[in-house]
Amino acid sequence: MKKQDIIIKGKAKTVYSTDDPDKLILYFRNDTSAFDGEKIEQLDRKGMVNNRFNAFIMQKLEAAGIPTQFDKLIADDEVLVKKLDMIPVECVVRNIAAGSIVRRLGVEEGMDLNPPTFEFFLKNDALHDPMINDYHILSFNWATEDEIARMKELTFKVNQVLTELFKQAGLLLVDYKLEFGRYQGEVTLGDEFSPDGCRLWDAKTREKLDKDRFRQGLGGVVEAYEEVAGRLGVDLT
Ligand code: ADP
Ligand code: UDP
Repeated sequence: MKKQDIIIKGKAKTVYSTDDPDKLILYFRNDTSAFDGEKIEQLDRKGMVNNRFNAFIMQKLEAAGIPTQFDKLIADDEVLVKKLDMIPVECVVRNIAAGSIVRRLGVEEGMDLNPPTFEFFLKNDALHDPMINDYHILSFNWATEDEIARMKELTFKVNQVLTELFKQAGLLLVDYKLEFGRYQGEVTLGDEFSPDGCRLWDAKTREKLDKDRFRQGLGGVVEAYEEVAGRLGVDLT
């Protein structure tokens, strides 16, 4: 499978068309951004680590019955995926309060959320990804009622599978963001699952092992991603 044209150059990945009209190649760059692209740095090895991490997680999810984009790893920093018709919303589940919910609702970081919360955000950097609800999605025809229900169902199913997986590795899955698209009529998990798009804390010390290290200038960003990958048994060689 050969890379053809650049379809999208995002903040962290470049998306290429291939000679198969139903497949794309995601190239994971070392670029790391935060605050809607205001802070950008290149972090050595990050593209490779996230690509392998994402492949590992997508395969676990697929095995648990969640339809994903994953086809196969084709290079250290490249994966072949199904070409999805992306739904322009982000689905966020939170098990523990951190990040924007702390600022928005004035709650304390670290509070357990029981049951976990679910939020939709519009994928739009210029508007700083505003929070939206089901009615916005319906009124603007971003997705149907059935697709909304399916995105919620799959996002919570991901929570079940991954909370347990990370727990076994001594990690707390604090929150995460998922993006879905349509593939042959089926709502399918796209984009990536990596420490760039979730929060992971050491279960004992609550040390941050995710992109908050970059956002908050704590250092050791890729080292933390590698630590998480190592505990899960992701092959980085
Ligand atoms: P961002 O959009 O935040 O800048 P990326 O740099 O990760 O993020 O860009 C990847 C782009 O590719 C995003 O627009 C994402 O929605 C899109 N995308 C991810 N997976 C797929 C897929 N399987 N099919 C089509 N588009 C995808
Ligand atoms: N997230 C993401 N992309 C975004 C916004 C959020 O991957 O554009 C992830 C983020 O890493 C965290 C979760 O979604 O794991 C919730 O993010 P939050 O709303 O707290 O926003 P933040 O404060 O991280 O910008």
